[in-house]
Amino acid sequence: IMGQVLIDEPLSRHTTFRIGGPADLLVLPISRADLEACLEFSRQKGVPLHIMGKGSNLLVRERGVRGLVIKTTKLSRIRVEDLSIRAEAGASLARVLSVAQKAGLSGLEFATGIPATLGGATVMNAGTPDGFLGEVILKVEVLDKEGRFLFLESSELGFGYRESRLKGSGLVIVTVELALKPGDPKEIARLIAERLALRRRKQPLAWPNAGCIFKNPPGYAAGWLIEQAGAKGWRQGDAEVSTTHANFIINRGKATASDVLALVERIREAVFRRFGIYLELEIETWG
Ligand code: FAD
Repeated sequence: IMGQVLIDEPLSRHTTFRIGGPADLLVLPISRADLEACLEFSRQKGVPLHIMGKGSNLLVRERGVRGLVIKTTKLSRIRVEDLSIRAEAGASLARVLSVAQKAGLSGLEFATGIPATLGGATVMNAGTPDGFLGEVILKVEVLDKEGRFLFLESSELGFGYRESRLKGSGLVIVTVELALKPGDPKEIARLIAERLALRRRKQPLAWPNAGCIFKNPPGYAAGWLIEQAGAKGWRQGDAEVSTTHANFIINRGKATASDVLALVERIREAVFRRFGIYLELEIETWG
């Protein structure tokens, strides 16, 4: 493997929550051959395989993760081809958006401020009220468990609200192709700036967090339910229900996954008591 290999690496260094115990092995592949080597190693030795992008949707427990974690962020080449962009899975969404803006390609502005890799955003069908990734994806290239590269069309990926068939499939996303439309670079830049400003006002970005903790149940905003249930500002250790946006939990320093999960249970109970609604996690727990 040409990329970096880290042993017993604390995942708190690789998640936006700044929480998480060690991975036995963490690999940062820099080529497709590296990716293939990781899969082959995992298959031959029977070592469990996990894949992460920027870790912006992950809560990793104290005990960490056994086996091999692939972090894709060094696989980040981006190419513009007419009205489409083809990029490697580890490319940051922000960089893809910036390349699109400069090339006068519109359609991805909805994703402004989502601190994801393109691969992670595809698996999660990341989005906002203005759009979601599945809408602009043409196809993805994946590496399957047998080490074969395959192309899957958007229609095969089962995109739903923060859902896709790629989640938990064991397929590794290698590249993603987006279909965009012509737009005015200045207008795209204006939209991006506007949305960034809105996020800075509405989200507690000064503290480590993992975005929205719960999915919005049909017809409701989870943040509103949590606020109404009186949970804003609740604290467990260094984990705190944000007073800026109640669907965010912030890490005020040394929060652990247990602290966050204890808050999660307290919030669920309060919301269930008040509304009879059971909140489902949007974030993914590891370990
Ligand atoms: P990770 O968190 O590293 O992984 C997420 C999932 O994708 C895991 O299951 C992982 O195994 C899988 N995965 C990652 N890369 C690959 C790959 N190459 N192949 C196969 N599987 C892969 N989300 C929204 O939808 N909308 C928002 O507006 C939003 N705002 C946020 C704001 C903040 C401040 C933060 C911290 C998070 C926010 N999120 C939002 C959540 C998060 O950014 C998204 O879920 C994002 O898609 C996760 O991308 P990631 O690269 O960090 O993936």
